[in-house]
This record gives sequence, C-alpha cells and structure tokens, in this order.
Amino acid sequence: MDWNALQSRIRGTVVTPGSPNFAAVKATLVWNELKPDRSPAVIVTVKDDDDVVTAVNFARENGLKIVMHGGGHTWCGLAVRNGGMTIDLSQLTESKIDKASRKAIIQPVISNRELARRLGEHGLAFPIGHCPTVKASGYLLNGGMSWNLSHWGPACLSVEAVEFVTAQGKKILASATEHPDLFWAARGCGPGMFAVATRFHLKCYPLPKAIMSSNYFYSLDDLRAVVTEVTALGWKMPSNIELSIFLIKAPPELADKCKKTNGKLCMITAVAFANTQQEGIAALGILETGLMPQKCLAKILNERSSFEKLSDAAGASWPERHRNLCENQCSQANPVDILMALRDKIIDAPSPKSVIVFCQSTGQHNLLEPHDDIALAMDGQSYGGSWAIWEKPEDDAVNIKWQNEVIAIIKPFTSTHYIGETDIVQDQTRVVHSYTKEKWQRLEKIRNKYDPDRLFFGYLGGI
Ligand SMILES: Cc1cc2nc3c(=O)[nH]c(=O)nc-3n(C[C@H](O)[C@H](O)[C@H](O)COP(=O)(O)OP(=O)(O)OC[C@H]3O[C@@H](n4cnc5c(N)ncnc54)[C@H](O)[C@@H]3O)c2cc1C
Repeated sequence: MDWNALQSRIRGTVVTPGSPNFAAVKATLVWNELKPDRSPAVIVTVKDDDDVVTAVNFARENGLKIVMHGGGHTWCGLAVRNGGMTIDLSQLTESKIDKASRKAIIQPVISNRELARRLGEHGLAFPIGHCPTVKASGYLLNGGMSWNLSHWGPACLSVEAVEFVTAQGKKILASATEHPDLFWAARGCGPGMFAVATRFHLKCYPLPKAIMSSNYFYSLDDLRAVVTEVTALGWKMPSNIELSIFLIKAPPELADKCKKTNGKLCMITAVAFANTQQEGIAALGILETGLMPQKCLAKILNERSSFEKLSDAAGASWPERHRNLCENQCSQANPVDILMALRDKIIDAPSPKSVIVFCQSTGQHNLLEPHDDIALAMDGQSYGGSWAIWEKPEDDAVNIKWQNEVIAIIKPFTSTHYIGETDIVQDQTRVVHSYTKEKWQRLEKIRNKYDPDRLFFGYLGGI
C-alpha cells in the first residue's frame, strides 16, 4: 500500500503499524480503558473535508474498509476495527452559530460541554448529552439521549441537516428535502453509519434562564415506596423536568446510614430547565407533595445549576480513565418492577463506582415516543441501564460477571436497546434489537443504495 502517496495528498496525517507513534495514536481512539483487542491497518487523521474525500477514495481504490473515529466514546470501542482504515475526525472542531435564526452548523468533534459553552455565549442551548467529554459526532448519529429529553426530545430531532462524504467520495447534504432517506438513517443509525458525517446543522433553543435541581437521598429499604411515588409524581410534572432514579454509592456524609446496604442508596434527581426561578421552584416542588420526602436521608432543594454544573456532576459519576461496561435500553415496564429487580445487584456490585440509572417520564407523555421520520426506534416510559465502572485490570472478571448478571435481569424489561450505549460486540443480536423490524429493513435498503459495496465497516465489520 502506498501510504506515502496518501500522505502527500492530505493536510492531515497517516499513521500505520510501522510508524513509531502508532500505538500512542491508536490508544487515543478509545476513551474506555477497557481497550479492544483490535487494530486498524491505517489511521488517517483528517484536517478538512477534502482530506476526508481523499481518504475515502484511497480506501475504496485500495480495498480497505472504513470506520470513523469521532470522540472514541463508544463503550465497546467501535472506532477501532481489525484491519481497514480508521478515519480520525478529531481535528474537526469548528462551529458557526447564528443567534438570530437560532441555528448552528458544527463540525463533528465538539464535546457536550464545549457545545453548551459556545451556544451559551449566544443565549442558546441544544439537547446535549450528559457527560462533558462525549462528542457530537457519534452522539448525534446514535439519536442522542439528551438533557431535557422529555421536553426537547432525542437530540437527532433537532438535527436539521447533515453534510456527508459518501462511499463514492462525493460531498452531499442530507436533509428533509435533499437525500431524505440518508437524512432519515443519519438520525439513529449510530455506529452503522455508511457515510462520513462532516457537519451537523442544528436547530437550537433559547437557553433556559433558570436551570435548577433538587436531589433526594433514600435508603434502599424504601426503594419500592420511593420509586412508586416518584414515578407517579413524574406524570404531574412539566416536561421540562428531567427526573432520574439512581442506585448509587452514598455520598460520604450518608455512608454510615447506608452500612446495611453496603454503602449504597437511591438518589432521585430532578433538573428543571425553567425560565424563571419561580417556575423552577414550582415544578421541582411537585416532589415535595408526596409522603416520601419526609423519609429521605437528606435532600438538597432548588439549587441553581447550569449546563456547566450538570456536566461537572455527570463527569464525576462517569469519570475519565476507567474501565467501563454499559448496557442501556428503554422500557415500557413499570419502573418499580425494574428497579426492585436490580436492588440487590447494586448492593453486591464489586466496584463502588458502578451505577444503575433510569430516567423517568415527565409531562404526561412517555419519555421516548416513536417517530416515523427518524431511524431511532426508542419507545418507552423509562430509559436507562447499568454501568460497571472500575479501575484495575485484575478486577475485570468480577465486574464483567456482575454486569452480565445485571443485563440478564434487565433483559425481560427491555423494549429496545439504545444503539449508542449497548455492547453490540458482546451480543451481536443487540444491533437488530435496537430497531423495529420495519426500521431495520428500511435502514438496510438505504445502506444498499448508498454503500452497495460495503466500503464502510458498519455495525460489526472487522470485529
Ligand atoms: C461517559 C459517557 C457518557 C455518555 N452519555 C451519553 C448520553 O448522555 N446520551 C447518549 O445518547 N449517549 C451517551 N453516551 C454514548 C455516546 O453517544 C456514544 O458513545 C457515541 O458513539 C459517542 O460518539 P463518538 O463520536 O465518541 O463515537 P466513536 O466511538 O468515535 O465512534 C463510534 C461509531 O460511530 C461512527 N461515527 C462516529 N462519528 C461518525 C461520523 N462523523 N460519521 C459517520 N460515522 C461516525 C463510527 O464509525 C463508529 O462506528 C455516552 C458515552 C460515554 C462514554
């Protein structure tokens, strides 16, 4: 393979297993410390759209399959496959924001925290994901389980167009009117994407002026009563409240009170994306109308927050440089049944950092509802799952075992997996089970049209 010829035609860099920095560059392709045992034939870090076109054409002409690296945050390391070309988009970080029209055009590799910051300077917001370092790239293609999900919907509903480089090396725009089939696929196809997304056109929203939060901490002995009450109150809350139930390690000041449950408790968080303090307090106050607040171990009410603070909090629960396994899905089942089934597992978790979280419906409609005009197929009253999070390689076996046991418990409650946060390497059937039958067939038809020769690895190629 004439790598020098490729290098001479692009502004970016070409790194192959023979390059001295190959191992270092490869390590940056996967955020999770649980690295896959796979290796590409070449990593092409592009600087602009023309580099992407050149890389795609080179791969096609030389029989190399392609996968993209956005931020490398897929839990199961999908930006690295065996053989083929990884097109590393990490240098594509620019954005243009138009305050008047509330639109933004962004390159793919901008983090949630950074996107919120740039938009915030213009008084705007977008349904970003929860963790600060996750990049728009794969997050938007997955569908995007965002902050304020119940109100704004999955992030892909606020994507108005996507600029692509196709398998034929052509630059095209996909929107509701141009290449609408590709646009449909781009909103939920996730790691199976069969073209390189180089820009996303976003519809933005006025920045909520009073983001506020309340947290309640409960003994796991009260879990059934708490979940029963909180989920019932959720239906009475406005949709701009994000309501989540965590099974998690107690904060240090409550650890003593949770000794019986191995230092674990139930934390309820409610975040109001309100416009005034009164609106926020009134909406969050609905949780105070129940009986359970009298039984909580502690509570923090009506704290002023911001996307920056929310990013900090999420970043603390999903820390950098850890080994992770994740399984996430949506469910039509009663959240009480799901969480009660998982109660003993959080108590037994071998790592104190592991967490189980389910986001609940607010606003008198299901948290996730089916939309025909996007590939994303999530449909359920709650969304969430389990994260095994640990540090040392010698603890792999025990944490993997725990995660598998949790997954076995969640499985009967699953309506669809979330393609962005399910381990399709461990269980390949989860790809198809992330879609309805009709959506899966439609996705395959569109893939055949745009990538008939399977230039792109897709969901499972090179695994
Ligand atoms: C700590 C953490 C928190 C998370 N929180 C959330 C959350 O709140 N909500 C949520 O929805 N998800 C969340 N996720 C999951 C996240 O959406 C996915 O991991 C997503 O794939 C990350 O995007 P990425 O660009 O880093 O993907 P990568 O790992 O770089 O790529 C994954 C796959 O997507 C494809 N891909 C990536 N970019 C492009 C592109 N530009 N064009 C075409 N194909 C592309 C690649 O080919 C590859 O197969 C979280 C993940 C982590 C690790």
